[in-house]
Amino acid sequence: MIQRAVEEPELGFSDLGLGPEMLDALRRVRYVTPSPIQAAVIPEALEGNDVIGQAKTGTGKTAAFGIPLIEMLEERGKGPQALILAPTRELAQQIVSEMQKLAANHHAAICAVYGGQPIEKQLRALQRGVDIVVGTPGRIIDHIRRGSLYLGDVVHVVLDEADRMLDIGFRPDIEKILRRVPDPHQTLLLSATLDAEIRRLADKYMYKPVELLLSKDEVSAETVNQFYVTVDQEKKTELLLHLLRREKPEQCLVFTRTKRGADKLADRIKRVVKGVAVIHGDLPQSAREKVMKAFRSGDIPVLVATDVVGRGIDVDGISHVINYDIPDDPENYVHRIGRTGRMGRNGVAYLFVTPDQGEPLTNIEMLMNRTIPPLPLGEFEAHDASGKAQQKRGAFKELFSYL
Ligand code: AMP
Repeated sequence: MIQRAVEEPELGFSDLGLGPEMLDALRRVRYVTPSPIQAAVIPEALEGNDVIGQAKTGTGKTAAFGIPLIEMLEERGKGPQALILAPTRELAQQIVSEMQKLAANHHAAICAVYGGQPIEKQLRALQRGVDIVVGTPGRIIDHIRRGSLYLGDVVHVVLDEADRMLDIGFRPDIEKILRRVPDPHQTLLLSATLDAEIRRLADKYMYKPVELLLSKDEVSAETVNQFYVTVDQEKKTELLLHLLRREKPEQCLVFTRTKRGADKLADRIKRVVKGVAVIHGDLPQSAREKVMKAFRSGDIPVLVATDVVGRGIDVDGISHVINYDIPDDPENYVHRIGRTGRMGRNGVAYLFVTPDQGEPLTNIEMLMNRTIPPLPLGEFEAHDASGKAQQKRGAFKELFSYL
């Protein structure tokens, strides 16, 4: 396997072997310089190689696979030529809207298929003929079963946010789909983390992939200022309100551990703060789309979300990510804070930690390979029995310094 670190590009888009139509479309969306992942992935993909790209959202990864896919499109056949699998509906929609902009000069039919939307609309779109299908694995399987999606013409497959798809449990569905794609075909895999699970998938379904690795700094979200706060469980809401008042975030994403917790928290803060909404997997698709539209346009500055849905939210103006509940899995912390600090902008991430959560905090620090400093709170009293919590955390700090 060829491994290469992704470096700061000195190249422009015109050095990447792109046609005049694509260069014109890029000018129209005002993409002047390729991001590091784009400069690395685009030429390899255009060569026809299988590529594993380590990239988180906000680094320009959609265009990194979208540009070469559009460039490589040929005459339309019976079925799509490219199949893009994504973990969430929101991400699938975002991919489609970005790719439609990039394909402005290409007459490419790009269609999203995901659950929660009436299947008839998707059936009609597929029947009319498409070049690129973007979808969540479950709904793609649905269409394969109904006979409405023919994979015999697919020559490019993209697995976007592959780590997240495996986390959600899509592995069997992904494998079922990949087994139906005829050989030879090209596979592009994008993932924020490249663990053993991802590599097993790549070993099984990819051919001599070129691995493009980001530097550690890029993975650990260098543009995000991170702080933790030790706070009693029953003081968390008060602390959140205090921070919202103090910092007046442009746009703020608040993560809770459970759907019920998200609903309860949103209800409580709605009474005090204007422009709060909640999003999680139990909401009907139409409601999720409405909330996302309002958040994206800035009408709603505070959005409370759970991990599965929150992960798919790619809105450039998010200034604050508040981890109201510490994530169960430290990897999720990396994904959560990646919602801010996108494309080189600065963002802040706060992590609420109850006095007994020193250990999960330390696990996050070890994964990030950095210590997260405490947030100075000024007058705010985060504890009923003051001092106790800080002491406990102190003990963990000491332990951490030996590791
Ligand atoms: P992504 O990582 O694909 O979610 O992209 C993050 C954001 O960066 C999106 O809003 C893109 O429209 C934007 N973007 C992608 N590539 C470029 C580029 N080369 N120059 C400027 N903006 C870009």
